[in-house]
Amino acid sequence: MTERVEDASSPAGDAPLLEVTGLAAGYGGIEVLHGVDLAVRAATATTLIGSNGAGKTTLLKTMVGLVRPSRGRVRLRGEDITDWSVQRRTRAGLVLVPEGRRVFAALSVHENLLLGAYGRRRSAVAASADEVYGRFPRLAERRRQPAGTLSGGEQQMLAIGRALMAAPTVMLLDEPSLGLAPKAVAEVTGILTALAGAGTTLVLVEQNASVAFRVASAGYLLDRGRISLAGEVARLRADPQVRAAYLGLGTAERR
Ligand code: ATP
Repeated sequence: MTERVEDASSPAGDAPLLEVTGLAAGYGGIEVLHGVDLAVRAATATTLIGSNGAGKTTLLKTMVGLVRPSRGRVRLRGEDITDWSVQRRTRAGLVLVPEGRRVFAALSVHENLLLGAYGRRRSAVAASADEVYGRFPRLAERRRQPAGTLSGGEQQMLAIGRALMAAPTVMLLDEPSLGLAPKAVAEVTGILTALAGAGTTLVLVEQNASVAFRVASAGYLLDRGRISLAGEVARLRADPQVRAAYLGLGTAERR
């Protein structure tokens, strides 16, 4: 297969905030990622698209330290963090919003938020909670309600709110639109667009490329553990393979 990778990293002098180089990882001796290079610039939203099983979740997990790479490095602000624990990465601001939201159903909305702020100073936690409630008034209205009683869209909002409680430098989101009703997908897209617009650095894994391309400015296509295409979103959007496989469009059509 011809690789069509172009350099999506930042211009010289503008070092990436988060960078992986030559990253290989897998499970029980089966390699899933075969040498991935990816660079995320500060204050940008970068999307990672790819089919089922391409390795998108594995790549996010390797970046936050839940999966150990067999080769390659992960760097945050130029510092090699490959051997750091998950906790140390979280404290440095690398925060994952996992697939399936993973809120604690029996705990209240507020208790779920506090879990995201583990280890932070009490005054900082209160300020972050105020900020999250200001951003998501529906969570404020439901702050004492068990998280399990929230709708899917509200639970995603809570999962994003919980990540914001950690004061993220980079927020990594795994399929935030998955399994949501169209109205909730639109709402989550709006939330992510607002976060990106406010300068939060996002890495967004999505199978729904139309969501991904609305939020992100740059992106990567992961194909069976390898990056096969990288660049600005306009470039990905114009690619025939992406149009056919991820946008359900023919090559001749224009959106
Ligand atoms: P999806 O969109 O389906 O979530 P993905 O691109 O996120 O796909 P991964 O979840 O990273 O892909 O999975 C990549 C490969 O690794 C798949 O073949 C999957 O079966 C395998 N895999 C994922 N997690 C594990 C695990 N915990 N143990 C063993 N194999 C795993």
